[in-house]
Amino acid sequence: LAVSSLALTGCGRADTPAASSDAAGGFAADSLIGVALPQKTSENWVLAESLFNDGLKAAGFKGDVQFANGGVSEQQNQISAMVTKGAKVIIVGAIDGGQLGTQLKQAKDAGATVIAYDRLLLNTPDVDYYVAYDNFKVGELQGQALLDGMKAKKPSGPYNIELFAGSPDDANAKVFFDGAMKVLQPKIDDGTVKIVSGQKSFEQAVTQGWKAENAQKRMDSLLVGSYGSAELDGVLSPNDTLARAIITSVTAAGKPVPTVTGQDAEVESVKSIMAGIQYSTINKDTTALVTHAIQMAKDLQAGKKLEINDPTSYNNGVKVVPAYLLVPQIVTKANAAEQFANDKVLGPLTK
Ligand code: BGC
Repeated sequence: LAVSSLALTGCGRADTPAASSDAAGGFAADSLIGVALPQKTSENWVLAESLFNDGLKAAGFKGDVQFANGGVSEQQNQISAMVTKGAKVIIVGAIDGGQLGTQLKQAKDAGATVIAYDRLLLNTPDVDYYVAYDNFKVGELQGQALLDGMKAKKPSGPYNIELFAGSPDDANAKVFFDGAMKVLQPKIDDGTVKIVSGQKSFEQAVTQGWKAENAQKRMDSLLVGSYGSAELDGVLSPNDTLARAIITSVTAAGKPVPTVTGQDAEVESVKSIMAGIQYSTINKDTTALVTHAIQMAKDLQAGKKLEINDPTSYNNGVKVVPAYLLVPQIVTKANAAEQFANDKVLGPLTK
């Protein structure tokens, strides 16, 4: 698994996974479990809130599930409050995975187990486990979908594309981008794919706060600056919210919709895919991810060893965080109906 892609350089000591798993054995079955979620930047987070509330209750725990729409300091305060209330496990979907060190240390000092959820917690020794979809794989699937979608419309290149990345404070954003670039870079190098604006780097491609309006504005200016006469064939979008903003911008400029990728299988985007507008999304079933995070809490409560399927790849800059990774699925019009056949919200879909 290519998580050298995390591009985390500072390598300090690498704790053995066993050290943290054994430290946390057993606590009362009705203990408090804290869940700190970031901002509601996509549907998966909103869904996670109700799944955690229901799932923790069903498991016999007390749940304290919080959003930090106000930003990093609100999330810091929420985690401190969870520690004060005696949470035995704190599950964190960080706004900024590098800004929670003080609060995570408080959590560990108080004997809690810290689980990074969806986004890795960076540059801290005070994180025990990571549970997420394989985010580098997400990026690779996006890069491949972009190439496939463009080829389906126009059998041979060169193809003109633009690149969008997520919010730079989210540890996942660079991982998605690097995964996609692993697939796209050889095509850029051999001239099949051209980034007409020349904005190739992650720093140039980022979308602060994962905000749709920021992506829309950047797309507007890319169109004005680089696509007066050139044709735009494809846009790498890291998620569905941004994909729809990019499509809005292109449509408002009176241009044909290019191949646009996405992620999260949001309702509006799946509809758009079925209508032949957005090209692809990534299905990262939130229920499966939340269920696994709650299973980790249950295993900790029972004093059991946690199921880990990637013990070595996630160096957060200070330690290797033992991880449990789930497998993301690419979705296009060709397989959407099949993917969501049993989905309560999306299915059944008809072409
Ligand atoms: C998640 C994505 C989501 C994005 C914005 C990322 O960390 O992995 O699924 O689209 O945050 O909310």
